[in-house]
Amino acid sequence: MPDTPTRVPALYGGTPVRSAPLPGGTRFGADELNELREALEQGTLFYHFGGKVKAFARRFAEMHGAPGAVATSSGTAALHVAVGCLDLPPGSEVITSPVTDYGTVIGLLYQGLVPVFADLDPASGLLTPETVEAALSERTGAVLAVHLAGNPCDLSGLAALCERRGIALLEDCAQAYLAQHRGRRVGTFGRFGCFSTNDYKHISTGDGGLVLVRDPADLPLATAFADKNYRRDQQGGMRRVERLAPNVRMTELQGAVGLAQLRRLPEIVSRRRAFGDALRARLQNLPGVTPMRVREGNTCSYWFFTLHLEAQALRCDRDTFAAALRAEGLPVRPGAYLEAPLYRTPLFEQQSAFAGTRYPFDLAPQRPAHCPGAEHYLANTVILEVSEFYDDTVLEDVVEGVTRVSHFFAR
Ligand SMILES: *Cc1c(COP(=O)(O)O)cnc(C)c1O
Repeated sequence: MPDTPTRVPALYGGTPVRSAPLPGGTRFGADELNELREALEQGTLFYHFGGKVKAFARRFAEMHGAPGAVATSSGTAALHVAVGCLDLPPGSEVITSPVTDYGTVIGLLYQGLVPVFADLDPASGLLTPETVEAALSERTGAVLAVHLAGNPCDLSGLAALCERRGIALLEDCAQAYLAQHRGRRVGTFGRFGCFSTNDYKHISTGDGGLVLVRDPADLPLATAFADKNYRRDQQGGMRRVERLAPNVRMTELQGAVGLAQLRRLPEIVSRRRAFGDALRARLQNLPGVTPMRVREGNTCSYWFFTLHLEAQALRCDRDTFAAALRAEGLPVRPGAYLEAPLYRTPLFEQQSAFAGTRYPFDLAPQRPAHCPGAEHYLANTVILEVSEFYDDTVLEDVVEGVTRVSHFFAR
């Protein structure tokens, strides 16, 4: 059955590997509806008086063996809460990845902190202890690791580095639900682990986020920071606010849907993992292309899957390779995860976060970011969509299509 490598790709008139539509499905059902009805019947949609948001956060923490979690209005807000709890003075630097959602850095900037972009391993798009070490300075207050695509960073290495330097480790796990490093779930290595439940993620509450805490003492801090720094747990002194904090509370409606979604999460992740792991195994030894690398001892939750092209070994550029896979009827996203690393966006190039000032960048002047590994990653990566609704026919078609296209373009 193996495809004869010389078959003409669909891009040049051959018959596409797949003509059937990609399998889909519904993400919400009777369980969500039932939870929503219960939420409404409480007579309040405020997290502090209702039970859904609290149960959602508690259940999520239990799944991680963590002492608690705080639910927020978005993943961006979850990250903002984590960063706010560090109580770093404005002008402190936070080392993070230049290939991530903008939400990773929004809270930093609102807190007057300066994102410092460390380079990435070009084969995985992840920060490494070495690249983070190279970005450290006297002003570094924290490291914010991003588990891109659901692929865990070297968390033991990063945790050891942060420990040695006496700085905090935060984890952006928005794409990495239930992924593991050395048998332990991501989000439990850093002081805080932040998740998103926006509509694109493994589970959705429309919008929403979660902050896992490792230290029980951080639970009231994070709860307060998400809620104007009100201390609803303290009699009398609730509004004796000392530090600025936003209102990024989750509503009971989101919490209700989240509770039902959490019950689906293990199955969603295991289906994606089976698909991604099988693809990685089956796409070895093709000319000019290697599947994404997941470090030994880690498990990935595959928010998406990446193929890495070796430009010298192929007679085509990245976009042509991707177009050829798309023409085969495969779920290939045009372009990389980002058009350019974050430091190439106007906000960073012009230091224009706030009108009429270079704040906070003027507090910690930087040399221009230099991340050749990140740029190589973006320029040479093709993204394959992953879905919990994909079946073995998609797997077989992707293997056949990538095999056909890589042999066709091989030098
Ligand atoms: C989705 C995402 C965020 C932001 O989450 P929102 O809920 O959209 O605010 C942050 N970081 C990463 C890596 C993400 O994928």
